[in-house]
Amino acid sequence: MNKEKLERVCLNCSQFLPSSMEEATEYGICLSDQDFEPYIDGLLDGSDYSSCRNLIDSKQFLAERDACEDFDEIEQITPCLIDELYKTPSNNTTRQWLTDIFRFFEYCPIGMIREPLEKMVKDKRFSYRLKKKMKSILGMNVTP
Ligand code: SF4
Repeated sequence: MNKEKLERVCLNCSQFLPSSMEEATEYGICLSDQDFEPYIDGLLDGSDYSSCRNLIDSKQFLAERDACEDFDEIEQITPCLIDELYKTPSNNTTRQWLTDIFRFFEYCPIGMIREPLEKMVKDKRFSYRLKKKMKSILGMNVTP
């Protein structure tokens, strides 16, 4: 895989999360900050920013901030995440991670993910639940 070094700023770190899922923002938070630990599930699936909104507001910083020594480069995130889907079994432990990946795909230009998702929809390794998410992103009809 072609690996191009990304700039060492928080935006390009896997621990960085935008301050809002509802609007474009140049601010974000660091998920390795222990203060976010109790809220991590809701933050990762994007379903519950409200329970720690004040904390986010007080901790947020510019995404372009210089990275710290724990920087974990996201690299080329979309192909990496597609690889992850093939490698990660779907179970209680990984559910949050998988949800987070699909959440990211929802924000990706469809042209970047259409082909791999169409392949995955036909792959027997993926559960009905995951295929339903894939189909929803692809705008395909989801049968009950
Ligand atoms: S570079 Fe450091 S401070 Fe920035 S998001 Fe990553 S872990 Fe957090």
